[in-house]
Amino acid sequence: MNVKKDFPIFNRKINEKEIIYLDNAATSQKPIEVIEIMNDFYKRENSNVHRGIYTLSEEATDFYEKAREKIAKFINANSNEIIFTKGTTESLNLLAYSLSEFLIRGDVILLTELEHHANLVPWQVMSKKKGLKLRFIPVDNEGNLVIDEKLFDNAKIVSISHVSNALGTLNDIKKIEELAHKNNAYFIIDAAQSISHLKIDVKELNADFIAFSGHKVFGPMGIGVLYGKKKFLDNMEPFIYGGDMISEVSLENSEWNDIPFKFEAGTQNVAGAIGLGKAIDYVNKLGIYNIEAYEKELTNHLIKKLSELKKIRIYRPNNISSIVSFNIENIHSHDIAQLLDEHGICVRAGNHCCMPLMNKLEINGTVRISLSVYNDKNDIDMLAEKLKIITEKFY
Ligand code: PMP
Repeated sequence: MNVKKDFPIFNRKINEKEIIYLDNAATSQKPIEVIEIMNDFYKRENSNVHRGIYTLSEEATDFYEKAREKIAKFINANSNEIIFTKGTTESLNLLAYSLSEFLIRGDVILLTELEHHANLVPWQVMSKKKGLKLRFIPVDNEGNLVIDEKLFDNAKIVSISHVSNALGTLNDIKKIEELAHKNNAYFIIDAAQSISHLKIDVKELNADFIAFSGHKVFGPMGIGVLYGKKKFLDNMEPFIYGGDMISEVSLENSEWNDIPFKFEAGTQNVAGAIGLGKAIDYVNKLGIYNIEAYEKELTNHLIKKLSELKKIRIYRPNNISSIVSFNIENIHSHDIAQLLDEHGICVRAGNHCCMPLMNKLEINGTVRISLSVYNDKNDIDMLAEKLKIITEKFY
């Protein structure tokens, strides 16, 4: 896509080498306009939102709410269905806390064996507190979900990642949505790994809730989104209590504000929201379908180049999206990442916050390559060349 020039980080070198950044599943780099708009906010409009009856605060509020509108439009939602959070983790914690209020002892929460800890641990805690049962859609050896309708019996919540951050599996979200709703369960998508790669249309996906992080879609860290259908958000209890989320307060009682403000207690990450709005502009400029097509081609090239290496075990789910995980026989994934770093190549190694998945696959981790719009075939060829040298050193 030839957009490296939009990202100032690529002006710097590591070990006197140009940076080849292949850890986009951990976080994406930021285009200059995202960095600048946040700087500008602190230089020009900085003030608290929804509070001041003066120009600065009105401008800050306007920018903050416009960012919300942009995000809503991006995923085909209404603005009041967009709640700003710290990130996917907070969005999922909010859901675990708030939705489990509706559940009773013995109700089932259906997850999968490939969830990130952020979509596992909050449910574990709530299930212990409330006597709920956790159930898991299993994965096979390549990272595909093995979906059986019986697993959905008595499920009240079905929460799954759109794309596995560890293996890149693009899950059959439509099938899971149908089964979840057939059984009257709430259907939640963790879109942390799809938001910057695939079109997310809440109406088409028919998700009840969607969680994602700003920093994985070219926005800043510390800002994220929880989308929820209005009819559900209206009836849910807030997760955090304090200023701005109330409509009426007496010494003994309080009433909650309307959505989305009910879920946004206290001073918010206003610069972060504005930065995320700008990041969405950037994605729109490139076009999400163009991104998807470009990354598909790159992923195929990556798989082809990796397949040429000796002693490599690549995880190959049937549908894959921009992430490829592998191991090289008898070389620890951490050693590979460290040796690649000497060449300015950034990859992730380890369990990728998916310890149960690694246990299931009977491995202690993988090397993970995760692509983005600024990567090109040259990055992949360099990676493959250095991996070849590293492998030859060990054998
Ligand atoms: N879910 C998935 C699938 C992820 O990949 C991540 C981040 N690696 C998270 C949740 C958590 O995101 P964050 O740390 O931004 O809250």
